[in-house]
Amino acid sequence: MSENQRHCPGEKYTISDAVCQGRRVRHYPKCKGCQFNDDEVQPKPPKVGNGAPIVDAIFKAYDVRGKVPGQINEDVAWRIGHAAAQYLLSTDEARRLTGDNAKAIVVGHDMRSSGQALMKACSDGILATGADCVSLGEIETPAIYYAVGSLQAAGGIMITASHNPGDYNGFKITAAGVKPVGESSGLKDIQRIAQSIEQSGGPLKGKLRQFDLSSGYIQHVRRFARDIKPMKIVMDASNGMGSKWTPSILRDLAIDVVPLYFERSGRFVHEPNPLRDENVADLKQKVIETQARLGVSFDGDADRCVILDENGDRVGGDTLTALLAAEFLKAERGASIIYDLRSSWAVRETIESYGGVPRRERVGHSFMKATLRKYNAPFGGELSGHFYYRDNFYCDSGVITLMKVLSVVSQSDAPLSGILEPLRKYATTGEVNFHVEDKDEMIKQLARKFADGKVDFLDGVTVEYGDWWFNCRKSNTEPLLRLIVEARSQDVLDDKFAGLKAMLGEPANE
Ligand SMILES: [Zn+2]
Repeated sequence: MSENQRHCPGEKYTISDAVCQGRRVRHYPKCKGCQFNDDEVQPKPPKVGNGAPIVDAIFKAYDVRGKVPGQINEDVAWRIGHAAAQYLLSTDEARRLTGDNAKAIVVGHDMRSSGQALMKACSDGILATGADCVSLGEIETPAIYYAVGSLQAAGGIMITASHNPGDYNGFKITAAGVKPVGESSGLKDIQRIAQSIEQSGGPLKGKLRQFDLSSGYIQHVRRFARDIKPMKIVMDASNGMGSKWTPSILRDLAIDVVPLYFERSGRFVHEPNPLRDENVADLKQKVIETQARLGVSFDGDADRCVILDENGDRVGGDTLTALLAAEFLKAERGASIIYDLRSSWAVRETIESYGGVPRRERVGHSFMKATLRKYNAPFGGELSGHFYYRDNFYCDSGVITLMKVLSVVSQSDAPLSGILEPLRKYATTGEVNFHVEDKDEMIKQLARKFADGKVDFLDGVTVEYGDWWFNCRKSNTEPLLRLIVEARSQDVLDDKFAGLKAMLGEPANE
């Protein structure tokens, strides 16, 4: 008896499954009490791909990220490519495109050792939908924004885990018009499709093309450099993508670069996250030792950078926002500048003193990019080292930030610490974390306790007085409240910080 045959009780001959099923549908008398009566009547559970199911945990607010190969592997990459292509080609902006790349998704990967294989699987997933795929090879994240914008593609997928350790990887997805794709703008749709489709071995219907972005991209970055003078800097690429194009751009500008961690082997000497002090310790030492004008450290995919002054002291993201805001406002008086609501008063004051319109925004790149667009602002900055540029498709870029810093530093013979001194005039705690059981309740309590100040709820709660202010907000990623306090003097700061700690408890050790 073959697999698809069965023996109906009381009958001489075997019958096929199809006949059996047909009989049951028509309530054939003999089928009453048939042992097969109930099988196949129940709907089968939906198939969730031929690999393991994709876990929800890898879908973050702005991207997809997880461990390789347990959470992120080629099956997941295929399905994300397939799902993202379906979504990206369906956006209004993509449908309005008419050029050669109107049905193309651009893809690239960073230096992580899993990158190439994941990009291949992701491209196959894209091609299987009938969309075309433009493969950019190993690139930095800002280059994918440039590619989507300059090639007028239907979207882009960058395979990177940014500043995470080497056993992570992920996907940053960009829509047509270089619009970010996040939780509230497409990523949920992509998640739903990716989790329900099955990888098929069918023909790849779209066209695959390799494209070398280098010369156009380098020219694009160079346009942000203005009258840069020769100087010595130390550059830490964190074994990431910063070492691909930036050194040659700097050489052309007669910058003497002392290199640190330029190898792109997929291994990291230190975690590619310059926000942590231990990851810029070597850079600090090298800046002092070589008497360089400044130090710069990029994160793994080079969309972020952190600057150290000639003493090896970190330049806060807000201080840098103020410094660069002045530069943009000299060229475009009256423009809006967007700044992170955790920024020092010095940012607002600088923007105003140069005739600009300061606009506070909540933390997160989708908010920053949207507000830049809304006000046609040439520039915006976040404490996290993300700086956004209108003329860079409203996107962030580590190397463009370095171009602007070098342009400003070139205008003066003073050391960077001297240039920054007027911007570092207030005392601050920096961001401090607290474990608090009921975070929403604590935010309400703080608002009640400080109700006599100027209170707003743009992100968590911010309260401002004449000589100090604080912001306390929930972390998006961890079960923490984050507090930042700034004051006109260290004494006032110590006093107010002590008062807040009485309510919030002792700061959490990271
Ligand atoms: Zn990054």
